[in-house]
Amino acid sequence: MSEKPVAAKAEKLTAVKGMNDILPPDSARWEWLEDKVRSLMGLYAYRNIRTPIVESTALFVRGTGETTDIVEKEMYSFEDKLNGEPLTLRPENTPGVVRAAIEHNLTYDGGKRLYYMGPMFRHERPQRGRYRQFYQLGAEALGFAGPEVDVELMLLVHQLFANLGLRNVRVELNSLGVSAERQAHRAALITYFSQHLEQLDAEAQRRLHSNPLRILDTKNPAMQALVQGAPQLLNYLGDASLKHFDTVKTLLTACGVNWTVNPRLVRGLDYYSHTVFEFITDELGAQGALCGGGRYDGLFELLGGRPTPAVGWGMGLERVLELIKEQGRVEAAPTPDVYAVIPDASALPITLQTLQILRAAGVKVQMHAGLADSPGSMKSQFKKADGSGANYALIFGKDELTQNAVTVKALRDGIGAQSSRSLADIAAWAPTLQSRT
Ligand code: ATP
Ligand code: MG
Repeated sequence: MSEKPVAAKAEKLTAVKGMNDILPPDSARWEWLEDKVRSLMGLYAYRNIRTPIVESTALFVRGTGETTDIVEKEMYSFEDKLNGEPLTLRPENTPGVVRAAIEHNLTYDGGKRLYYMGPMFRHERPQRGRYRQFYQLGAEALGFAGPEVDVELMLLVHQLFANLGLRNVRVELNSLGVSAERQAHRAALITYFSQHLEQLDAEAQRRLHSNPLRILDTKNPAMQALVQGAPQLLNYLGDASLKHFDTVKTLLTACGVNWTVNPRLVRGLDYYSHTVFEFITDELGAQGALCGGGRYDGLFELLGGRPTPAVGWGMGLERVLELIKEQGRVEAAPTPDVYAVIPDASALPITLQTLQILRAAGVKVQMHAGLADSPGSMKSQFKKADGSGANYALIFGKDELTQNAVTVKALRDGIGAQSSRSLADIAAWAPTLQSRT
């Protein structure tokens, strides 16, 4: 029988449900992805914007839409302790970007191309590809009305996925036209669904008059046949809207992007117009939407700004990384070039100085730490050197240091080979320690 503990151990704290720690070596995959994103955004002349994670709740009620799942049930909202102001952790970032654009008059001298990366928060049931804190990459083009910008934004996604080595991602498109066209379609939808009231589930009945377009988006299998037969918005588009849509399709094809039209792809909010699109995979189960976007020409006005055409998309980075894994891409974990072996603490000053010089020369260095805990054990230091993945051990032995030199020992190629290097000409030999990647 074990003894009873004298004092109660402090209770362990864990991360909040649906919110994940991203740890090494996994975090290296995130950095790799973020680097790819940044260089690609530069090639398309999109510039970074960083808005606060907390915004006033009203921004999302108006900017995301009162009748959306997000606002109806997914927001983390709270009141400011001092003045009671309703605040919300951002569930998405388009409203924040548009608020900032209006507040700082960003489009005063023409259109702006922006991108962001960061955490979003939605109170959903956690499952694979669906979390309560997740990361979105987003791109927004503000102040451009033409279909060529819709296409540019989709090319950006297409190219990013190609650069990441992703396969089998399809593009679905639709057009929502303009307000008058949607109103006519909406009336037809209400008429149609009203004739089949008994087939509508409770949610659809509730949305029938508030947001009938969203009924088309239902995932209820029992309603699929009904939804298939519903009037299609595409049949209500006028010449100008059809032309915008045709140009998008033609340009995508010209650039080698395959697409299909999905007449049921909708965003049930009135500030959306013209192009909507999704990038989808079948390899992640129900969480197959990697990226969703569209034109939101009405949003600036809704948030108190001047009428400004705009289009953008948001991408779930967990899902993208999940798909990369699923498709078998393995990232090499980052390793140091050199592991510093330190036989004796008296060598620490010269060791730390030398390592600083090596790092300044671009050599990735991991220093042995823990001399105070287990002084002297060379065997364990070499074991750690090996485990670090470094190509070389750099040994700061007493005798050699008296001659102003250190020993380099190969840990991989030509394993075991040793040579002495003078500390007087580090610059000459430092580059030979760098791995060529
Ligand atoms: P879904 O239908 O999967 O709930 P959504 O329509 O709510 O997606 P958007 O608001 O368009 O998603 O967000 C853009 C992208 O963000 C999605 O395509 C998806 O990749 C990602 N995403 C959305 N919600 C989550 C979540 N809870 N966890 C992880 N990724 C998410
Ligand atoms: Mg959702």
